[in-house]
Amino acid sequence: MNSNKQTKHLAMPGNILTVEDESAIRDMVKFALERHGLTVHSSGSAPEARQVMATQTVDLAIVDWMLPGGSGLEFVRSLRKDPLYNSLPVIMLTARTDEHDITAGLDAGADDYVTKPFSPRELHSRIKALLRRSHDFHDDPILTRGPLSLDMAAHRLHANGEEVTLGHTEFKLLAFLMKNPDRVYSRTQLLDHVWGPGTFIEERTVDVHILRLRKSLKPYAADKLLATVRGAGYRFTAS
Ligand code: CA
Repeated sequence: MNSNKQTKHLAMPGNILTVEDESAIRDMVKFALERHGLTVHSSGSAPEARQVMATQTVDLAIVDWMLPGGSGLEFVRSLRKDPLYNSLPVIMLTARTDEHDITAGLDAGADDYVTKPFSPRELHSRIKALLRRSHDFHDDPILTRGPLSLDMAAHRLHANGEEVTLGHTEFKLLAFLMKNPDRVYSRTQLLDHVWGPGTFIEERTVDVHILRLRKSLKPYAADKLLATVRGAGYRFTAS
């Protein structure tokens, strides 16, 4: 089996989320970045962005400052408080050149900013720099259990050498369980470990994500590794 060899040579992560209400800019960014081989998920508001994030892996977010129903700043702040996204690289798009506003953006947790109007080439080079930085930073080893191989750095899962697409939460959940196999975790414990302590989320949310995860793993017969332990919770079986 050379599935390890394959996963070690994965390209840099390249799933970009854009949060921008002006469709002309949204389309321009999508067109420009997809030409460079990046995958772009577009959204027009913070709630729409959250919907995308529930089902797609996101490696970097481009957030417009002025959004309908709340500023991009608030959205970035909410990401930074979220244990699933507190290290997600964020670039803010801003029409404001005022130094004070740019500082506010960086204080809110943005990693970089691009002032409108901007050239797609400039935006792309900023993205590349940020992705490289976060890629180098997370140099955890590749975790292999059974047919599954988890690359924490590239944020990718492979089953029998084939890439499996997972939502961000499902990825985090699986990563936690794969790192701690053969142990039963209650829903409350999983909420604490994966969503973060003090998160006000209903326990059945865990079941929903386990269900999604099993569905993604089923084609590889790897769903059986995720066992439901009656009255207790869930367990990942290492073999
Ligand atoms: Ca806007």
